[in-house]
Amino acid sequence: MIPKFNFGKDGDLLVKHSKQRDAILENLCSRYDHPTAEDLYLSLKPKIPALSLATVYRNLALLESMGDVVKISTNADSDRFDGNVNNHYHFACIGCGGVSDVDMPVNDSIEDKVAELTKADVKTHSLIFYGTCEKCKKKSLTNEIIML
Ligand code: ZN
Ligand code: MN
Repeated sequence: MIPKFNFGKDGDLLVKHSKQRDAILENLCSRYDHPTAEDLYLSLKPKIPALSLATVYRNLALLESMGDVVKISTNADSDRFDGNVNNHYHFACIGCGGVSDVDMPVNDSIEDKVAELTKADVKTHSLIFYGTCEKCKKKSLTNEIIML
């Protein structure tokens, strides 16, 4: 649910300053694990006892609409969030649900290719790779050894 917006005389979006929203953004930008709303809530709750999970969800939606955070929707139940708004690729583990950055340059040329194929005006693209992460691979290997 996105809160109601107020617009200034020049049509700019006026968003009331919020300490809780600042704290959410600061926490998100200080980590690289692409937390869920609940992860952020649990991490901030000890510092901000008045914080509610609904407030975290609401502020993440607002931050996303302002372009300050990126929502990553994978096949897993909960959306994840990223404070790095520059386009980059992600890997999502089908075992533990973890999402990590893929240190690989963004391929801008595929946008031209898609524009050519669809005759559309292509502005961006996002890419999530799916598979089993290194930790989960090791875990399943250990389980196999125990089974032997
Ligand atoms: Zn995993
Ligand atoms: Mn990322």
